[in-house]
Amino acid sequence: MRIDTATALYGIIGHPVKHSLSPLIQNLAFKQLGINAVYLAFDITDLSSALAGVRALGIKGLSVTIPHKTDIIPLLDEIEGMAKAIGAVNTVINKEGRLLGTNTDWLGAILAIKEKGEIAGKDYLILGAGGAARAVAFGLKKEGAEIVIANRTYEKGKALAEEIGAKVIPWERIRKVKTYGLVNTTPVGMWPETEKSPLPDEVLGNFSLVMDTVYRPLETKLLRQAQKAGCICVDGLKMLIYQGAAQFRLWTGQEPPVEEMFKAAKAFLEE
Ligand code: NAP
Repeated sequence: MRIDTATALYGIIGHPVKHSLSPLIQNLAFKQLGINAVYLAFDITDLSSALAGVRALGIKGLSVTIPHKTDIIPLLDEIEGMAKAIGAVNTVINKEGRLLGTNTDWLGAILAIKEKGEIAGKDYLILGAGGAARAVAFGLKKEGAEIVIANRTYEKGKALAEEIGAKVIPWERIRKVKTYGLVNTTPVGMWPETEKSPLPDEVLGNFSLVMDTVYRPLETKLLRQAQKAGCICVDGLKMLIYQGAAQFRLWTGQEPPVEEMFKAAKAFLEE
């Protein structure tokens, strides 16, 4: 595809961003739809200067990743409701110079779960209370699930539970809980510690559906355990692709090639 004076620029800001899959999937979508745009990765630490650059250069849209998802909020012109509730922005839309912050992480998680399982009226145990947990918890709550939070640091889990109207249990009790769904939002099991799981084998029978937000490796130990126990398994890559696809829709108003984006990201991870 030709890059010329009409080429629109999009990107991801974070620190670090070296391992991001977003340039791969977003550029694939632009190319497949014949949209004259490119998406680049920007490793930045000075957030306000970066946003001044976005305004000055007319960058059309941003993905926002760790550690800027919360700190970016006061620097934007408008924050959409779910992003405000979650307390994190992962998407910026440049609307003729006004920077609108929104969040698609929660939607990515919800779409990934809905593809295989149910949410409304079901109960879910969420492991963790960090950024990913907040997106998953607010999303599940919005869709009508009952939520139980367990976090290594109890007080942080309790604070999140109070915020969304959920139950909280001490981390030591996660082996005793029986719920429809389990979502791991901790990094336990992430490469290079791929032989770790937050739960022992015998406990996975307590759940019908297990989602791991970790996607390196694609099939975590937790998901292998869940598969053996006969659970519906949802991997973290689906969440990642669906949140990216939602960003693409917001930026372009067009439907991205979600299946191709997923296949490309999967092939990249398997390499
Ligand atoms: P975060 O804000 O730093 O939160 C991490 C959470 O995990 C905290 O609740 C922390 O508990 C808990 N934790 C960390 N190490 C633990 C351990 N060894 N045992 C038990 N709990 C532990 O991080 P985050 O942004 O939420 O990211 C967490 C994970 O989600 C990462 O693996 C990331 O790859 C994944 N993620 C996936 C997607 C996706 O699209 N698939 C999107 C975002 C994040 P304390 O409060 O006690 O520290």
